[in-house]
Amino acid sequence: MKKQIWKWFAAIVMALSVLPAQSWAAGYTQTKYPIVLVHGLFGFDNIGPVEYFYGIPWALRVDGAKVYSTQVSAANSTEVRGEQLLTQVRQILAATGASKVNLIGHSHGGPTARYVASVRPDLIASVTSVSGVNKGSKVADVLLGVAPDGSLSNAVLTSITNGLSTIISFLSGSPTLPQSSRGAVNSLSTTGSLKFNAAHPEGVPTTACGEGAYQVRGVSYFSWSGAKPYTNVFDIIDPALALTSLAFAGAKNDGLVSSCSSHLGRVIRDDYAMNHLDAVNQTVGLVNIFETNPVTLFRQHANRLKNLGL
Ligand code: CA
Repeated sequence: MKKQIWKWFAAIVMALSVLPAQSWAAGYTQTKYPIVLVHGLFGFDNIGPVEYFYGIPWALRVDGAKVYSTQVSAANSTEVRGEQLLTQVRQILAATGASKVNLIGHSHGGPTARYVASVRPDLIASVTSVSGVNKGSKVADVLLGVAPDGSLSNAVLTSITNGLSTIISFLSGSPTLPQSSRGAVNSLSTTGSLKFNAAHPEGVPTTACGEGAYQVRGVSYFSWSGAKPYTNVFDIIDPALALTSLAFAGAKNDGLVSSCSSHLGRVIRDDYAMNHLDAVNQTVGLVNIFETNPVTLFRQHANRLKNLGL
């Protein structure tokens, strides 16, 4: 009963936050190739009945897109997750008869999608990185014991670690990092990301905070992200994101990823007033009411892909 009420509440919140701002038109999101969504660290299984890209697949399908949500290891290296994703992309291509897909990855899903496009560009029309960890996260660095820029006090470092524990606990139901997470944290650190980028450089900016190539080996690259860690007093995860944002020592960030690290290919925007979880319309639609709704951004992007013939 309680679960049922929660579901209705979530549906109403979503409807109120999404419906008025949308431009609904038949075919608006009807991309040529299927859209494949790729979750981030600790995605999916442990958020219970709530979908990771909250309300997003439906909002894309309603105006014509074919949308698939994939599931890869919650916490593992980018390469391992990438191989898992490649297998699912092949299955989707076989099931739909499409020749390519459009990949959209959130957080660690960004590099995961990039891996597939790097090893099989012939199967991918575009890669879009939403709040992607393309040049690492200072929060992962802190976890590995690498001091971030400037010298943060032990008290601040403790706050960052505590904030991250809260976020991990929230997303996975487990308050500590399981052993399998070591690969994930390494991949998400600055050092690990730079190593990955050397092997898979497609779309990654060659300057510290510029744009990357818009198209490489036939694959189009895009990115967007937010830069406001605390956005909604009703969202229980926001205080934790405010703590982890301390790792960035003042640089623009969304609580877990800096704006500059999120850049890939064509940067649509890197400073929406949203945090790392707002970007996928979490928690259950509790986002910044003074900013464009994240679901709208996904719809606009599907329209952008459609207009580019993708
Ligand atoms: Ca939120």
